[in-house]
Amino acid sequence: MHEQSTKPVVLLIDDAIDIHRLLETRLRAEDLELVSILRGAEGLETAKRINPALILLDLNMPDMDGFEVLRLLKADPQTVDTPVIVISGSDQTADKVTGLDLGAIDYVCKPFNFPELRARVRAALRIHHLMQLLAQKAHIDGLTGLWNRQHFDERLAEEVAACERNDRSLTVVLCDLDNFKSLNDSYGHAAGDAVLQGFSRQLGQLIRRTDIACRYGGEEFAIILRDTDAASAMSLLERIRSELASMVWPRHPERSVTASFGLCDGPPGARNDPNAWVEAADKALYQAKEAGRNRIVVAGGNPGDAMPLAKAG
Ligand SMILES: [Mg+2]
Repeated sequence: MHEQSTKPVVLLIDDAIDIHRLLETRLRAEDLELVSILRGAEGLETAKRINPALILLDLNMPDMDGFEVLRLLKADPQTVDTPVIVISGSDQTADKVTGLDLGAIDYVCKPFNFPELRARVRAALRIHHLMQLLAQKAHIDGLTGLWNRQHFDERLAEEVAACERNDRSLTVVLCDLDNFKSLNDSYGHAAGDAVLQGFSRQLGQLIRRTDIACRYGGEEFAIILRDTDAASAMSLLERIRSELASMVWPRHPERSVTASFGLCDGPPGARNDPNAWVEAADKALYQAKEAGRNRIVVAGGNPGDAMPLAKAG
């Protein structure tokens, strides 16, 4: 299955079976997996489904010409960033200009010069890889290396929808470092940053690979625990809470740092609104603060019923 492959997937859309045979042979030595489609419309559908790293697109096809396929690929948010190399029998300047202006990254003429085609494919795959790294970087918090708020919002919407569809369990946690402002005031912002980084590192080590830890903002963190019941979520959070409380900080060994946690779990059902999950976790976090900090509170009742609450310190 191409989805499980770690090699980049290249989608070839061309109505000529000979071209498929030829490219399969000539690209065999490259570090990629070739998926072959003979029709424009099916190529579009496949591109959306498998999200390839590169599309090689013929222009002259009977059902839908390559320009139209390219136009539709670039009009769809799911495929707009997928690089496309037009492969065409036409070496007309007008066709090259049209293809490139429609958003193709490159234009290669048939018959192929294979060393050149391979080099162009490699160059396009390098660009795709760099674009993916950049996109990922835009979702990472610079100070802590955790995912950022934007990533949390996107992933939460996905996870809540998946949880609804598949009847899976999900736990959303909001966590806030206790008395962080006073720590900053007493020891300076560098000490505060060191705490944020130290806690983030610890968080990253304790959660499972499938969990998603984010810096929600300031000294607030959000964690999405997937396929987790309340009991295992509690035991994980308890470990995070107690390990943080016992950490010794080089800049202020006399002062420990604690955090409060609000947790929303429970069976999916009416909980298909991501905001309701966050509000419920936030309410529980507020209760943890009110009850004296350095503790975990599980949200009660339906998150849809959660009341908006003012922020505690
Ligand atoms: Mg053709």
